[in-house]
Parts: sequence; C-alpha cells; structure tokens
Amino acid sequence: MSIDKLELNKISSNGTQSLILQIVRDNSPISRSGIVSKTGQPHAAVSRSTAAMIEKGILTEDGARDTAGPRKKRGLQLNADYGHVLSVEYGPDGFEGIVMNCAYQSIVQTSQQCDLTTAPQHEKIHQLKLFVEQLKIKSKTAKGVCLGIAVVDPGIVDDINGVSVMATTLDDWHNVPIAGIMEKDFKMPVKLLSTGNAKVRAVDRLELNNSIANFIYIEYGKGIACGMKLNGTYISGHGNLAGELGHLRITDTPTPCSCGGAGCLEVAASLRALVRIAKSSSPQTSSSLAHNSNITGMDVLKAAAQHDRLASRIVDEAFEKLGIAVAGLVNILSPKMVLFDNVIGQAGTDAVAVLLRTLQKSVLISHQQQLETKICSIESHLGALGGAAAILDDCITT
Ligand SMILES: [Zn+2]
Repeated sequence: MSIDKLELNKISSNGTQSLILQIVRDNSPISRSGIVSKTGQPHAAVSRSTAAMIEKGILTEDGARDTAGPRKKRGLQLNADYGHVLSVEYGPDGFEGIVMNCAYQSIVQTSQQCDLTTAPQHEKIHQLKLFVEQLKIKSKTAKGVCLGIAVVDPGIVDDINGVSVMATTLDDWHNVPIAGIMEKDFKMPVKLLSTGNAKVRAVDRLELNNSIANFIYIEYGKGIACGMKLNGTYISGHGNLAGELGHLRITDTPTPCSCGGAGCLEVAASLRALVRIAKSSSPQTSSSLAHNSNITGMDVLKAAAQHDRLASRIVDEAFEKLGIAVAGLVNILSPKMVLFDNVIGQAGTDAVAVLLRTLQKSVLISHQQQLETKICSIESHLGALGGAAAILDDCITT
C-alpha cells in the first residue's frame, strides 16, 4: 500500500453492524425479525445495533413497508442521505461518471465523448481531473458527505496500490499511480478497479441484489469478456487477468485478432466483427446495411432486430459462436446463471433466441436443468456503477 493512501471512512462500527448493513442492502426494506432470521444473530443484538445505526442516520425506518408475515412490520433501509460517492470510468472513447447515494441509487449520470487513445499521459490525467471536478459540481445536490471516489480503468490494474499497470486500448499508459494522483488532488480516498471487476460488481449489487452465489456476466461490445462470481467470490485470477473470453479460439479463419492471435471469438462475434463482416458481404440494395457507409456494430444488431435478412444472418452466426463459447464456460464453471450484456438485447428476440438455443444445446444435460439466463437491464454506466458500489461495499464492511 502506498504510504499516503487515504483510508475510506467506515460506516459500520463492528462486525454485527456490518452484517446487518449487508443484509439490509440486499433485502431492503427488511424488519428486525427478518434480519434475525437471515443473520442468526440474537434479537437483542440486532435491536441494539439497528437502534445505534438509526441514531447515527445510517439506517432509516419506514412504517409498514415489510409486510411479510401475519402483521405489518416496519422496514429498515439504508439512508440514501447519509452520504454519497463519485465514480468515473475512463477508456479510449472518453468518460462515464455517476454519483451514487448510500442506498446504492445512482442520482447523477454523465458522460463525455473524447478520444483518449493517443493523448499523452499527462493530458489523459488532466482530462480525468476535469471530468471528476465537473462531477463534483453536479454532486452538489447529493446529501451527506462524499465518502470517496472510484476510478475504473480499462486495463490491468494493481488495485492494492492503486496503479494502472497497462491498458492495450490506451497509449502511454503504463504503471500510472492514478489513485495516488487523484487522492492528492481531491483530498479524499480513491479506489482503483478494473472495468471487468467493476462491471461484475455492478451486476451483482444492482441487478441480482447479491442473490446468486454463482454467475457469469458476459460483456459484449467492441470486445468480449466475462466476469465471474463463483461460490460467492469474484474471480479475477492471478495478476487480475481472468475473463478474457474474447480470446478463446473459436474458428479456423485466419483473420488476425488484436491480441496477436487468430480465430478468436472477438474476431468472429464482437461488434467490431459484425462491422467487418457486413462491409465484406456486399449487401443487396434491399438491406438497410447497403445505405450506410459508416456502419457500426450497433447498426447491424438493430438491423437484425428489424429482420433485415443480411444483418440477421451475420448476427445469428456471431451469436452461435458466442453461445458455443459461453457453453464451454458453463460446462467448466457450473454457474446458476449466465447474465448477458444489455447490448445483446438490441439484436431483437429472434437473434437472442438463436444465442440461447445454441447455449442450451451446447451445455451438458446436467447443467441445462439448473441454468438460468438473463439479459442485464442496466443499459449504461455499468463500470462507473460498479466502482461506486465497490466503495460503498468497502464502507459498510469492517
Ligand atoms: Zn484474440
């Protein structure tokens, strides 16, 4: 840990409070007896701890919200006004930022498109500081103290020391002690996360409410990756390098991949791949793809949703490959759920059906019966949301 690293302010004072806060976070609103049954803690201890946290303004109590059981009970929830956090994700295309309150609700969302790929390191840092400054101004309406800033980086990070080790999508970005740099400027704790870790956290907290101990999140866009929670633990692997699903070899076609290999899933099925294949398919004039010289991968997905014949063929073939690759993961890791990136849903129900059918067909029968699939409902700012949730998680955990 760097010498002058600022410590996050803890919201909970002890293990019991921390446990209660985690239960309330995932089951809000919940009564005291609900907490007792979920934690196994004595009723007196739960009553004492919740009273202390209501007194401090960490929890609020809403009359008659938790209506499970024979009589109406008061429901406890995290106090949204207790404080807030700022979170920024940066990447080659710019910034996405959010302000999240202590009830894990996003209250400000903002973004800025700019090309950071080739900007010199000092310029990238300058732009990041400006963006956070703007976010801070927008957070003026947020209640309570600012507990910290999350910085979400597209590359490999040393999260303990707050150093971005390298990012293949950003030039001049090696061993940047970005957390320390930001802490010095903003005088508050800064937590650095990789995009993959942040996104899996966002999905776990905000989509699944921590209800599933084994799931895989499939990130789909210009690249393809996966985030994993297995036996209740986020998996990042040695050197934080886990999750490179996009570089699984899936075809024998010699099209080169950005990783230096060939035949990778990313080359066959990512949004970039859809563009390349569409451009090389000389679309007939009846196809909507024929009239668009600046076609994007999202254009191809949306054309498929509109039943454009060429787009549907391209997307179906890509999704079949994606389904086979994901099935391999399912067979090895045995998740209860596979959650797909919201972008996948843009291809329409027919293409999604192809993906899910291929997936189901390619997994072992034993796994088929327990496997659930879902498309993530969170449309944007996933990395920034996960960064913010990670800070709040740290604050409520002793
Ligand atoms: Zn590759």
